[in-house]
Amino acid sequence: MRTPIVAGNWKMNPKTIMESSILASDILSKYDPNSTVECVLCPPSPALKVVADACMRSSIKIGAQNLHPERSGAYTGETPPEMIAEYCDYVIIGHSERRQLFLEDDKFISSKIHTALELGIVPIFCVGETLDQRESNLVNRTIDAQIKASLSSIPTNKIPQIVVAYEPIWAIGTGKAATPEIAQEVIGFIRECIKSLSNDFSASQIRILYGGSVNSANAQAIASQNDIDGALVGGASLNASDFSEIILAFSK
Ligand code: PEP
Repeated sequence: MRTPIVAGNWKMNPKTIMESSILASDILSKYDPNSTVECVLCPPSPALKVVADACMRSSIKIGAQNLHPERSGAYTGETPPEMIAEYCDYVIIGHSERRQLFLEDDKFISSKIHTALELGIVPIFCVGETLDQRESNLVNRTIDAQIKASLSSIPTNKIPQIVVAYEPIWAIGTGKAATPEIAQEVIGFIRECIKSLSNDFSASQIRILYGGSVNSANAQAIASQNDIDGALVGGASLNASDFSEIILAFSK
């Protein structure tokens, strides 16, 4: 039995520490302490501490939106991974915005996954195709290449600790979520990729989320698919009521 996860990627949307703190408190006030869903909040880095403090007496987990692969050194503007580890159980790695806007490649993403695992932080490793790739029938090839390039060097016994998020780029922030059937089909394929890269055990244990315009109206149908173990939520995670309903939808 895989524990479902619903993670909120707040991106750079809360503009102040105070806004992050208020959002965390709102979500907390609606979170059922007996929920079977692991809830993860991913605020901007400077707000990690206040959000972690707000959630301290709850089972809500904290995630970072990024991680530098080096442990220390001359990397102006970056946050030392050990500081991230002081507050976070999770970290989003390989989000398409980082791949596209910050030119992060598979090798760099792989080194971040190594660092996260060394520090005991669970990577939420994002993969997904562009609309062009989908229309050219390149979905499986794209996803398989992303998985192989970033996970081949991870020891097999560590693979089940990773969380994969399937985030089709055309669905992120567009209001056009993948249909539950498409999400299931690709996530089923990701499980097959994990099986051939690692083994049956890893494929059955690894948690695979769907992300891309998940909201309170479509969460139930997405959650009903066999291989989908939760959601990575952007826009709808900024509204405590919507986010709570998404969590409820995954309480299988
Ligand atoms: C995301 O950016 O990870 C995401 C899924 O965003 P949205 O839910 O807004 O599409």
